Amino acid sequence: MNEETRTRLGRVLGPAAPEVSCEVCFEELDHFVELEVAGRDAEAAVPGMTAHLEGCPACAEDHAALRALLAAEA
Ligand SMILES: [Zn+2]
Repeated sequence: MNEETRTRLGRVLGPAAPEVSCEVCFEELDHFVELEVAGRDAEAAVPGMTAHLEGCPACAEDHAALRALLAAEA
């Protein structure tokens, strides 16, 4: 599949991954980071979380802070 076809297909299908809102992100962040630190598949538990963190600097910052905290405790 060439680049142009892929771009067109992407436009038809929409974003490949679902993305959560900041509200959901905030609610699920504890759970998500716990799974991450435990080495589990956090993205499977909260689909769309990774995509949101990549696109939202505010939540990415919260995520990094919480993750550092939990990692230090573990
Ligand atoms: Zn956010």
